[in-house]
Amino acid sequence: MALDLSAERPAPPDEATDGAWLECIACGDSYPPFADVRYTCDCGGLLEVRYASLPTFADFSGTGVWRYESALPLSSGVTTQEGATPLYEVPRLEDEVGVETLRIKHEGMNPTGSFKDRGMTVGVAVARELGVGRLACASTGNTSAALAAYGSRAGMETLVLLPAGKVAAGKVAQAALHGARILEVDGNFDACLDVVKELAERGEAYLLNSLNPFRLEGQKTIGLEIMEAFEADYGPFPDRIVLPVGNAGNTAALYKAFRELLQAGAIDREDVPKLTGVQAEGAAPMVEAIEAGADEVQRWETVETRATAIRIGNPVNAPKALPGIRETGGTAVAVSDEQITDAQRDLAREGVGVEPASAASLAGLRKLRGQGVVGDDERVACLTTGHLLKDPDAAAAAGADPEPVPADTDGVLSHLVGDR
Ligand SMILES: *Cc1c(COP(=O)(O)O)cnc(C)c1O
Ligand SMILES: [Zn+2]
Repeated sequence: MALDLSAERPAPPDEATDGAWLECIACGDSYPPFADVRYTCDCGGLLEVRYASLPTFADFSGTGVWRYESALPLSSGVTTQEGATPLYEVPRLEDEVGVETLRIKHEGMNPTGSFKDRGMTVGVAVARELGVGRLACASTGNTSAALAAYGSRAGMETLVLLPAGKVAAGKVAQAALHGARILEVDGNFDACLDVVKELAERGEAYLLNSLNPFRLEGQKTIGLEIMEAFEADYGPFPDRIVLPVGNAGNTAALYKAFRELLQAGAIDREDVPKLTGVQAEGAAPMVEAIEAGADEVQRWETVETRATAIRIGNPVNAPKALPGIRETGGTAVAVSDEQITDAQRDLAREGVGVEPASAASLAGLRKLRGQGVVGDDERVACLTTGHLLKDPDAAAAAGADPEPVPADTDGVLSHLVGDR
């Protein structure tokens, strides 16, 4: 099977260009990477970028996403210095959750405040290479912010389709100021993506959702950074990586990072972290598929959660992500909006400011630890995908209310000693 966790390397087809090609995960057909615009196989299957040679840790140098240039389809991108995000220690949470090691990989520390930048630095560069005119994406917010920034940096026209009324304020503001045309769609994210896919099929725009295999190449570097940092700072590799799941692009990308490290001989099979996906209860088709042991997800027509970034009912990367979760021995779990907000607040009280979707990772870890699925001897990295300021309304609602005081010191002091 194409997406097995094995050390066997894929054989290059004849048409391999510069040592990289696109390969269908369903039927195995291959395509040259930059000959024409293509997102999926003729059979409808998802494509992956494959390489004739794969790097090991010794081949990486520099910092950020482009440190991993030897694992990417281009040697440079349209960059705003994305990647190289912090891996925080959170001693109080580590104690409370009760695992040997807990680290927070804070992807909110990317230039536009989410991991989407890692995908766009590669994806927009590929778009430029292909010579396309207009860039487009459907978005729950962060993809649009990143595409707007990277598109404008590349001097390209950018179109973003957003579900009306369901995108956090910070994200819309970013897309607007970076100069994207913002189309507010009367429908949910999945409906937006249906429209963008059709625009792309008709040749009206280049699609930069995570269906685009080049974006996932950039996002793969999250996994490479975690593996390198864990080994350098805390001993071997993490046992488990817990992450929020929307379209399951990151889950697919991290799994690809581990498969390639394994194929390069850089790690052993038992070094591969268990990929553990977390969804909101109101938008949990991946959890449903994992629990049912199904090979496909069933689209949820109605989705609802405060964690708007993962308010997705039809995860397009499920065919790549489901094998990733299963083959690594991971699992998927759903959490309530209350559990998400509690986790967001508790991360913030350790100085780590994240948006609601991001906090789902910690909420899911807590739940799995409570169920005994996660052991007390595990070394765990939780991914927090976006910055607190992305969703100021959610942050204000989860935090303390401002207290009105008079404009004099005595008044302030008596307020401080008085009842609150
Ligand atoms: C995009 C996004 C997600 C979902 O990631 P997928 O790769 O689509 O599963 C989660 N959290 C935040 C903050 C995001 O922006
Ligand atoms: Zn195919």
